[in-house]
Amino acid sequence: MTTAVAAALTLRGFGVSPGRRVGVVARMPDAPPAPSPEPVAPGSDLGAAAAAVDHAAAQVRDALARAAEAATGEAADILAVTAAMAADPSLADEARRRVLETRVSPARAVWDAAELVAEQLRGLGGMFADRARDVQDVRDRIVAELLGLRAPGVPDPGHPFVLVARDLAPADTARLDPSTVRAIVTAGGGPTAHTAILARSLGIPCVVAVGGALDIVDGETVLVDGSTGEVVRHPSAEAIERASHARPRPTRLEHPGATADGHHVALLANVGDPAGAVAAADAGAEGVGLFRTEFGFLGRTAPPGIAEQVAAYTRVFAAFPGRRVVIRTLDAGADKPLPFVTADDEPNPALGVRGLRTSWSHPQVLDDQLAAIAQAAASSEAEVWVMAPMVATADEADAFVDRCSAHGLAQAGIMVEVPAAALRAGDLLESARFASLGTNDLTQYAMAADRELAGLAQLSTPWQPAVLSLVRLACAGGSARDRPVGVCGEAAADPVLAPVLVGLGVSSLSMTARALPDVGAVLASVTLDECRALAALALAQRTADGARSAVRAGLPVLDELGL
Ligand code: PEP
Ligand code: MG
Repeated sequence: MTTAVAAALTLRGFGVSPGRRVGVVARMPDAPPAPSPEPVAPGSDLGAAAAAVDHAAAQVRDALARAAEAATGEAADILAVTAAMAADPSLADEARRRVLETRVSPARAVWDAAELVAEQLRGLGGMFADRARDVQDVRDRIVAELLGLRAPGVPDPGHPFVLVARDLAPADTARLDPSTVRAIVTAGGGPTAHTAILARSLGIPCVVAVGGALDIVDGETVLVDGSTGEVVRHPSAEAIERASHARPRPTRLEHPGATADGHHVALLANVGDPAGAVAAADAGAEGVGLFRTEFGFLGRTAPPGIAEQVAAYTRVFAAFPGRRVVIRTLDAGADKPLPFVTADDEPNPALGVRGLRTSWSHPQVLDDQLAAIAQAAASSEAEVWVMAPMVATADEADAFVDRCSAHGLAQAGIMVEVPAAALRAGDLLESARFASLGTNDLTQYAMAADRELAGLAQLSTPWQPAVLSLVRLACAGGSARDRPVGVCGEAAADPVLAPVLVGLGVSSLSMTARALPDVGAVLASVTLDECRALAALALAQRTADGARSAVRAGLPVLDELGL
């Protein structure tokens, strides 16, 4: 008897976290849609309908408690919180009341009751507001149980798997366990969206914006290449064999960054909180090139006090004694709204009052933060540099440098995320002491392409020749003023692009700690002149794909490293 073997079929997306893995697919079920608000048919058994709410809530609570017990680390903590939320009777009580009094279906009653609870939590602000998302998670699970749908959220098939999803919320991605999730494939998302950033930080190969991803079915085997962006359905036995023998990726940077001829390129880490700083130091980062400070502000209704900020910043600085730590002042707005500094009625938030611009109307928030940074820096051994996000003009750069200097912070710099700043970097760097290229936003604004939109993924890549030209201009501005220009956007974590950035004149690369060993290994394989030649080659191409392919072909080490 012969068995039909399906021919290999290659789907293409954007590789955002490197590594080649084979695995069995587990599809992530979509969240259930809002149930109909129509009342149930006259004569229905309302008592039974109300009891169904209790039964479904108990099922969900037990399943979550079992999952929390089986999980470890951060995932266990998150699941335990969600299980506790499911065990809280107020949601089921309110839903039961609605079934009995307003005659809506059990699923709709749970939906509306959850919205009420979530709204109350959001109103309380702070940590309570964060819990509103957990309520929605519990809601989706109870509604799915009532409607006989699969439980939403990350599946748990009981064996290692390739996760295939329409898209992942940051909370879903944070819950992923790198020891069971072999790779991630999403239909949505862009290369600089937050799913991509998190997948890279977890070291899970990931391909986003994959056309045909939703045709992939549970249980089939796929080969995922997080570097080239290929997802192969029904891979041949030979391809599976090759991928299974891929060397495990190194997790530590063993030497400071340098080209083969010894040109130093500082390899730094992007961190978001004190735990991330400790992990980055353990991974061998030479310092921190981007400390995103939003973690202390998000989900609150008022900014944290100076003392609280000092405590948090001190812990990050303490992880890097004698090393550079570049701390970025609050970057609120657009994808990171904060009710106490940003408006919620801007027609185009990405082009609105965000980043440094929020300090025009809320100068005290910036002044308090600079005071906290100065205090934490004074008692630490780290070499603290401060930079502002979303700076567009020389006036803004001058004003920021003045404010920093009033707090005794001499190393004040700017992020170059707006094309205007890249074009005129020399003007901004007259006062600013350094620049760091935020290539995620720089790409978004250069290409006029929302960084979170999967449909625009082919535009949202720093390989676009226009973005590379802006990087070159920013570096030229830096060199005219003798100021260092680094990269701290996701471009810095792309081991193929790293030599190009160095060839364009970038002096430091800051990335998720996981990417440090790969970037370090590729840089060590080329001389500075070769980096310059690769940069010229990339700039000479007309398209992003053309630039990437030309540079890949010029870097034989990529094959050796399995990148
Ligand atoms: C960037 O825009 O490249 C950047 C590093 O900032 P964020 O991703 O936090 O907007
Ligand atoms: Mg940015």
